[in-house]
Amino acid sequence: SDSHFPVPIFPSQFDYSLHYPQFFPLPDRSDGSKKIEFADIGCGFGGLLISLSTLFPNTLMIGMELRDKVTEYVKERILALRASNPGQYENVSVVRTNSMKYIPNYFEKGQLTKMFFLFPDPHFKEKNHRRRVISPHLLDEYAYVLRVGGIIYTITDVEELGVWMKSCLDGHPLFEAISQEVLEADPVVKLLSTATEEGQKVARNGGQTFQAVYRRIASSFSH
Ligand code: SAM
Repeated sequence: SDSHFPVPIFPSQFDYSLHYPQFFPLPDRSDGSKKIEFADIGCGFGGLLISLSTLFPNTLMIGMELRDKVTEYVKERILALRASNPGQYENVSVVRTNSMKYIPNYFEKGQLTKMFFLFPDPHFKEKNHRRRVISPHLLDEYAYVLRVGGIIYTITDVEELGVWMKSCLDGHPLFEAISQEVLEADPVVKLLSTATEEGQKVARNGGQTFQAVYRRIASSFSH
């Protein structure tokens, strides 16, 4: 059951000093000027966040994970990294939550610059497609919390899911595919298949991967 974890009623209720004590040393010192910018949805064991943490040391980032034990593991992993590398990994944290229900409780409109969906659960059967973390309806929410110019990164080893995620993104008016050239210059793209535990497993088994990386664009109705 996912009914036993606390959820902020709105984003400003989220306690930044608890998650990023080095950035917000005293309670209530979060003046709202620095906010989480990257969200790793279904972060699993946190490999991507750990890599991103040192690549973007001044950007606050969070993993959202449904499984309690996995979330606890990631918490411990971050605390251990902070302890053995003073001053580092202070910008990364994790929260146990159901991302399909609570994204707008955590992030304001246009707050995020990057969202990650790495190797999400495939939910093969047609009747279970509504459980997929990328869907036309959920893309509306992701478009809401992403800033114009922000990027959504997805990757999977399940071809059918890769085709699905791509077609949802292609069909959404607020997302646009990023050109191959731009993708090649983005250091984050290389991490998609290498940084997470699931990605490493797929690579060890020689599996193929399917990625879709899209930019949040402005609505053509807004001007
Ligand atoms: N992204 C990680 C990786 O690449 O190693 C984990 C991939 S794993 C196959 C999918 C993860 O998504 C699981 O850890 C699962 O618990 C999590 N998950 C599934 N549904 C979720 C939801 N609604 N909210 C948050 N996490 C979810």
